[in-house]
Amino acid sequence: MEHLLKLEKISKRYDACTHVLACVDLAVAEGESVAVVGPSGCGKSTLLNIIGTLDRPDAGSVEFDGTDLLAMDEKATAEFRNARVGFVFQLHHLLPQCSVLENVLVPSLVNRNAGNAKERALQLLDRVGLSDRLSHRPGKLSGGERQRVAVVRALINRPRLLLADEPTGSLDRAGADELVRLLLELNREESLTLVMVTHSMRLAEKMDRVMTLEAGTLK
Ligand code: ADP
Repeated sequence: MEHLLKLEKISKRYDACTHVLACVDLAVAEGESVAVVGPSGCGKSTLLNIIGTLDRPDAGSVEFDGTDLLAMDEKATAEFRNARVGFVFQLHHLLPQCSVLENVLVPSLVNRNAGNAKERALQLLDRVGLSDRLSHRPGKLSGGERQRVAVVRALINRPRLLLADEPTGSLDRAGADELVRLLLELNREESLTLVMVTHSMRLAEKMDRVMTLEAGTLK
């Protein structure tokens, strides 16, 4: 099987005595949806940050579409991150003084290949049911609406991989279900590969595959 993403023997420690990640292997196929579960503090965000090149492992390899991500220089890494990966976090990190439309366009401002980003923004915002909120500030939106804006912002540059770190952590049960449903619909419609970190087994089980991070290894 062709893998879009391949991690081998990843290890990471923040201090001398504890390995957050000991020897992690993970292969994700194009278009697959994978959940990573595990208790708080077990290293899920660290793993996601390594996949998204926001952090580097101490050892091991990370390949994306056959490219060795750890061999790229800083500029190439930043371009890769901007063009190929979308991030959604627990907190939306939207700019409070900017409108919904302005917020979702931010990643396209530094992408030379963005094409017609505004058209895509309008289409995606319509897709997630927010076409009547274009000029709203984030403060005027519900929690679920803000996360939907964050999802659109993550997808504006047409990434192949969406990394979601507890994306439902600030939502109630109904809002969480709705957001995960949306992520899975986008996963299918845009053949977007999805890796989602969550501590909710109920949500994790909606993905194609559930991996558990425990004692530094992924099973
Ligand atoms: P999770 O996402 O599963 O809650 P994290 O990846 O955020 O876990 O953190 C794993 C462990 O590494 C935790 O014990 C955390 O305190 C520690 N950690 C995370 N980031 C840092 C850092 N920048 N410096 C030192 N320790 C860190």
